[in-house]
Amino acid sequence: MACSYGRAVLHVCRRSISYSAPRRFLRDEGPDPLDHATGLEKRELLAIQSGNEDPFNMNITKRGPGTKDCPNLVPSAFKSRMVGCICEEDQSHIKWMWLHDGSPRRCECGYWFKLVEKAPV
Ligand SMILES: [Zn+2]
Repeated sequence: MACSYGRAVLHVCRRSISYSAPRRFLRDEGPDPLDHATGLEKRELLAIQSGNEDPFNMNITKRGPGTKDCPNLVPSAFKSRMVGCICEEDQSHIKWMWLHDGSPRRCECGYWFKLVEKAPV
């Protein structure tokens, strides 16, 4: 009786294992995403391939002095950009604000931010 139970389990296991398409994609043998990308997505992938890991400057950066004379510079290819400030290091929310070209802005915590022009990707 115990023997037949063991066979039944083994049979079920064999059925559930698949060596078809999903396994192939796990090994990264699918089509190259660069071949299928177009427009902005393609330009982003090409920038990353050429060594620029953050083409849209989306990574979190450490603030500098942030004074009115030496504000934190925020690159943007547009006339405005939304900026998030983590005012206190251990706080759990982000203070978001719009930054416009030509008018530096001071966060509630006292740090200044200024938009600087950047070539689009
Ligand atoms: Zn702040």
